[in-house]
Amino acid sequence: MALITCPDCQTENSEDVVSCFNCGRSIELKKAQRDFIEARVFVRTLKLQSHREWQAYAKGARSDLPPKPDDIPDAPGHVYKNKGWQGIGDWLGINEEKPSKNFLDKNVEYIKKNWIRLLVIYVGLTILLQYFG
Ligand SMILES: [Zn+2]
Repeated sequence: MALITCPDCQTENSEDVVSCFNCGRSIELKKAQRDFIEARVFVRTLKLQSHREWQAYAKGARSDLPPKPDDIPDAPGHVYKNKGWQGIGDWLGINEEKPSKNFLDKNVEYIKKNWIRLLVIYVGLTILLQYFG
């Protein structure tokens, strides 16, 4: 990764930063950054499933995927902080709360589809219990 030297304190910063991590001076990015929405559209096509997968991809460790364009930052949460960033789940197009929601949805769906069967079982058991009890 290329480095940007802070004009004030000469600290070397990663090219993704918007301000010097040492003195806080705002740094003009050397290269153009893709618009947040456009960058997100591209990233979502990759179908990465976790922050860890994103990090591996950003490092170039995913040879199975097309290489990351130069105008998409390695640290999007930093670069797009005030430009629409809504978390890594939104960035990758995954819903981090999905598993529990899915679980509930499935149960509701099951009950909706099978309520007659469930009712018959319930009534049947009630009658049996009354008969034998
Ligand atoms: Zn500085």
